[in-house]
Amino acid sequence: MSSRRLVDVSHVVEHGMVTYPGLPSPIIGDWLSREASQARYGPGTTFQLGRIEMLANTGTYIDAPFHRYADGRDIADYPLEAVADLAGVVFRATGGGGRALDARLFEGRELRERALLVHTGWDAHWRTERYAQGHPFLTRAAAQHLVAAGAALVGIDSLNIDDDADPARPVHTILLAAGIPVVEHLCNLGDLPDDGFRFFAVPVRVRGMGSFPVRAFAIAWGGGGVSRRGSSLGGERRVGYPAIMITNTAVYRNPFYHTPLDQTRTLDYPRMARVVDGIAAVVRGLASD
Ligand SMILES: [Zn+2]
Repeated sequence: MSSRRLVDVSHVVEHGMVTYPGLPSPIIGDWLSREASQARYGPGTTFQLGRIEMLANTGTYIDAPFHRYADGRDIADYPLEAVADLAGVVFRATGGGGRALDARLFEGRELRERALLVHTGWDAHWRTERYAQGHPFLTRAAAQHLVAAGAALVGIDSLNIDDDADPARPVHTILLAAGIPVVEHLCNLGDLPDDGFRFFAVPVRVRGMGSFPVRAFAIAWGGGGVSRRGSSLGGERRVGYPAIMITNTAVYRNPFYHTPLDQTRTLDYPRMARVVDGIAAVVRGLASD
């Protein structure tokens, strides 16, 4: 009964839009227009070949160490494991507690090998003049804390993960020195659960780029996973014990369940991890119901 959801947390890239004031806007058009293509193909057959001229820092994008460091790895160097199918955690900073988000925001949660997404709600100002004025950001101490905690990726739904008034850019400097991907200009983080989801922010593998747009999204299992049937609970029901089954992971861990091939080498460990994350989210949901 788990309800799997895909949650889009990236902005649309459009001709002429402003991501960061002062930086050039994307120019989107035809290289070969539909009309001009008529001469190339059979009667009634047309194609459009589009062309885009775009700063790498456009829309929702990911930074690589090369963005900050001349000898750092670039966007094409990111293995998929660094940018896809990461266990995600959201930190809520929408309460108006100030622009500078400190290490305290991240206390008491599992950070190691997680994609840590900071939900400020600043995406509400996207493509308005307000977006670039007084945006929320992480502090130097927060960045140091996240490196020490072993974060896999850090994202924010704001103009810049650094204070754009601080020319030293300590958060980029610290996170990218540690090889931790940074994703900026996320959106819709309010649609994500606090954890128990998988996060993806995958750029095209362009060589020589320190940043590149991504289609950032999450797979979440919202509100599902609760079965009120299930044979394993018959005994409890018969004696009047109000049991519910969250899930039976057996069918998720191995297609050879209850056969001689049900062995450690045939288990699907990443899938088991996703199931366990989903169960954790469901149990937290039940606890707050
Ligand atoms: Zn950046």
